[in-house]
Amino acid sequence: MKLPSIDAPSGQNWSCHGCSNCCRGGLLIVLTAADRQRILDQKWTLAEGVNPASMIEPNGSGFRLGHQPDGACVFLDPDGRCRIHSRFGEAAKPMACRIYPLVFHPAGKKVAAGLRFDCPSAVANRGTPLAAQTESLRPLAALALEGMPANVPPPSVFTEPSDDWPSFLRFVRRLERIITSDELNLGLRWVAGLRWLATVERARLDLLHGPEVEGVLDNLHRTAVVSIKSSPTEVRPGWTARMMLRQQVLEQARRTTVEDLSHLGRYRWFLVVGAVRFLLGSGKTPDFGSGFTPVRFSAIESMSPPDAGDADPLLTRYFLVKLQSLAFCGVGYHGLSLRDGFRSLALQYAVILWLSRWHAATAGRTRPNTIDIEQAIQRADHNWSHGRAPVDRLRLLVQRGDLERLCIAGGISTPSK
Ligand code: SF4
Repeated sequence: MKLPSIDAPSGQNWSCHGCSNCCRGGLLIVLTAADRQRILDQKWTLAEGVNPASMIEPNGSGFRLGHQPDGACVFLDPDGRCRIHSRFGEAAKPMACRIYPLVFHPAGKKVAAGLRFDCPSAVANRGTPLAAQTESLRPLAALALEGMPANVPPPSVFTEPSDDWPSFLRFVRRLERIITSDELNLGLRWVAGLRWLATVERARLDLLHGPEVEGVLDNLHRTAVVSIKSSPTEVRPGWTARMMLRQQVLEQARRTTVEDLSHLGRYRWFLVVGAVRFLLGSGKTPDFGSGFTPVRFSAIESMSPPDAGDADPLLTRYFLVKLQSLAFCGVGYHGLSLRDGFRSLALQYAVILWLSRWHAATAGRTRPNTIDIEQAIQRADHNWSHGRAPVDRLRLLVQRGDLERLCIAGGISTPSK
């Protein structure tokens, strides 16, 4: 099989540091048919610390890995090592374990690589630059994209199909420039991106090509920046915006485990109670564990946002990886257009800042610090591809101007007096 060429995000490092977080916590590891057969052929025995009768469990119409009583994978040994890896090598592990936390998406002649930021090494930017690992990533990309048709078409920029990959990617590169520009703080850069996209859509500039059009696109970015610099930035989101933000926080913050799925009735009731509390925003948050324990909504929503010096570099790196790896649109994100995927990222920014306040309030801090932001990114990114905001919710937030307000206010939900 021909191995694809890889485009890796700039400024992002990652190596596996063997923390084994991804093998704990009752997380669902789904097996392909080939994974299942390979593990059965490995002939595990009780003497090796693995119960063959419970190492693979049914999961809907397929199968998943079994768990130890503490929620660790059935193959994790007491030293935090994978028994399959130790005995048979890396290639013998299930596909999901081999690829995690990497993601790969078609990008024309190349494949765009990225990372899931629920991995502690990814969020902390530890290890080897991803851009220096492109050769070793090629076989994993081929594995991840196996079965996907060749020549996947580019996503739409707005509603109509894009002409070709270069036409589409020029819009991605511009959004990358807007989100990394140092003229504004990150909250205002989202506003610049949203306004720039809205103007480009109104003028249908996505249908035009040529150097003159590129100049117009640059000027529109400059105009958006100037208009933001000259407009008031003390904006408080209204009740509806705060409520819709909380609904999205709920989607992103919960972490469904195998234990939850085996007690579905109890878990559904927990979700219903959580949904009502997040809808009303009164009383205490539910207990989501791992630094997200019950605190009063008012304590979260009256807290100042983190200092931009702490938050912006970390969050900019996170969102740049999302953009560069195309993990926000097309096959990388529920088939969404570039516009709707970018709106989803803007809402994710507000969600992360809300979660960072929740984490800080749990720890008794009065303002989120870098640890709170890292924890919030890890929590929100875990559900990035599962808990997506409905396009209608995004549209409504944009029509009401609320998505801008949430970004300007750093996801803050303090009620207006
Ligand atoms: S199979 Fe190995 S790598 Fe995969 S979750 Fe289990 S212990 Fe971790």
